[in-house]
Amino acid sequence: MKTIGLLGGMSWESTAHYYRLLNQGVNEKLGGLHSAKIAMVSVDFQPLERLMQQGEWVECGERLADAARKIEMAGADFLLICTNTMHKVAGVITEAVNIPLLHIADATAERIKAENIQTVGLLGTRFTMEEEFYCGRLSRKHGLTVIIPSQEDRKIVHDVIFEELCLGKVRTESRKTYLNIIETMHRQGAEAVIEGCTEIGMLVNQDHTKVTLFDTTALHVEHAVLFALAG
Ligand code: GLU
Repeated sequence: MKTIGLLGGMSWESTAHYYRLLNQGVNEKLGGLHSAKIAMVSVDFQPLERLMQQGEWVECGERLADAARKIEMAGADFLLICTNTMHKVAGVITEAVNIPLLHIADATAERIKAENIQTVGLLGTRFTMEEEFYCGRLSRKHGLTVIIPSQEDRKIVHDVIFEELCLGKVRTESRKTYLNIIETMHRQGAEAVIEGCTEIGMLVNQDHTKVTLFDTTALHVEHAVLFALAG
């Protein structure tokens, strides 16, 4: 079994889900007392979040590249960045290490294509919903048609992530708002919706809506478990 490298803490709420799901995933495949081999660096999110909101992506990239080097030195065979948004600096991170990165958007897109879905809605931080590194990658690299919420709704989705979900707050009112936004994208032609932020699964899951959801945390983990156990 390969050792899974986790670059976590963004936020720790979602990294805790990664840790549990990876261990459960390996145990489901191998049984007994088997669990995942994991090397993790979990960062303090506050300073990074500040840098991100200020657009200081070079500094973000350098700090995360440092963390990735430590994960490699701790024995990881491959790397997961446990957040969609920080894939904006995935290039700098992969250059800093000699182990492969399993990109969260690629893991997600592969599943969507396997289910013959062409048009998807995308929820996430404003960076994820609006920018080339994520939204663009889904269409350019994977040929998907991506629908994003209106500007006003994007602000709501973004604010709920940082002001509630990253702090572990799950509010019924915010769930209703998210479900309305999901419905709107569905009416606009989205066959399914990507939960493109690793905390959104805490708020909305498949029990809450008939619209098919793709939870990036779960898909990233599934991909990692298969990769860890392959060969
Ligand atoms: N975990 C979130 C994501 O998947 C947002 C926090 C962050 O900006 O890293 O994008």
